[in-house]
Amino acid sequence: MKLPIYMDSLATTPVDPRVLDKMLPYFKERFGNAASTTHPFGWDAEEAVETARDQVADLIGADASEIIFTSGATESNNLAIVGAARMYADKGNHIIISETEHKAVLDPTYSLKAQGFDITYLKVDKYGLIDPEDVRKSITDKTILVSIMAANNEIGTVAPIGEIGKITREKGVLFHTDAVQAVGKIPFNVNESNVDIASLTAHKMYGPKGCGALYVRKKEPRVKLIPIIEGGGHENGMRSGTLNVPGIVGFGAACELCMNEMEDESKRLSGLREKLYFLITGHLDEVYLNGHPEKRLPHNLNLAFRFVEGQSLLLGLKNVALSAGSACSSKNSNASHVLMATGIGEELASNTVRFGIHRFTTDEEIDYVADEVIKVVKQLRDLSPLYKEGFANNKLKSFNFNTN
Ligand SMILES: *Cc1c(COP(=O)(O)O)cnc(C)c1O
Repeated sequence: MKLPIYMDSLATTPVDPRVLDKMLPYFKERFGNAASTTHPFGWDAEEAVETARDQVADLIGADASEIIFTSGATESNNLAIVGAARMYADKGNHIIISETEHKAVLDPTYSLKAQGFDITYLKVDKYGLIDPEDVRKSITDKTILVSIMAANNEIGTVAPIGEIGKITREKGVLFHTDAVQAVGKIPFNVNESNVDIASLTAHKMYGPKGCGALYVRKKEPRVKLIPIIEGGGHENGMRSGTLNVPGIVGFGAACELCMNEMEDESKRLSGLREKLYFLITGHLDEVYLNGHPEKRLPHNLNLAFRFVEGQSLLLGLKNVALSAGSACSSKNSNASHVLMATGIGEELASNTVRFGIHRFTTDEEIDYVADEVIKVVKQLRDLSPLYKEGFANNKLKSFNFNTN
């Protein structure tokens, strides 16, 4: 077993070696610009891009002509939200999103708000679940877009996007979903869920960084967006700029692998996840599961270790790469907005650590990580007067997941 162990797959995944093999020729002899129409170098690159477009489209049940390549999901989310807001501004100024969206959805809505748009931030329940009926109730005749993420990147909760899609379709409102964490991990189909716009990124599904896509529905309804990057008119004018051909080739290959392997992989990963959970909770008390117990991504485990600072736990786990709460919020001391939205409170939010297992995680690694977590949590709690006091006064509620 090689150390350190990577267990932060919701921040990024390793590139699958099979993906890299497909990409390499496009850095070397097949370096053409996909927009060059006058020679074989360009034709070759263009053909590779179109193959990848098919592969991405197939994975989500779309038509290849509905896929726009971007630099990643941050750009895709910006294009979806700002692009739709600008396009449909004469129809209305109301947008509905959830409180637990990624910053790449939240931040553009703050800018739109400053420009006069009316934004509804829907609350979630204690599992981070959105109630589709809340979406229905919030839609007005000014609503132009609903944006709800398919699966949460921190707590792993999977949203009822099929139910939300039924409502938005019935009401004639566009539905965008940040599908980054769901695509390639759990079934996701734009037609079955009535999704009109969807953001994807390669580096969360064993592809390269800096390459993503936006799915934009072409019929029933035909969605139009105002581009945010203008230039040579690439991608049907929706996203100008020379295409990242090696990245796109890798993205396509990554999608094909997910399509073929997702079913078996999700079973294996959820098995490993359950094992990690039961090992930890079998040896430690006062451990709380964040996110929904069943409606969650197979590779995500998010735990709060009461009386232990998540940051201290990470420092103690020298050979394991994890995140405290969220990768984005761990840079500042503010509690994660996602955990706070579930109502667990600032203290438990600061006790939280996220485990992200992945395609290359082994059984042996799970054992090692569980052992280390148990050891370090016990050490830190031995130093915690609060923990000891809790026992002395018998104040601790029995909240033990121990099943043995
Ligand atoms: C990682 C992530 C993004 C941002 O994707 P990039 O390709 O890194 O810009 C957006 N949304 C979610 C849910 C993510 O997990």
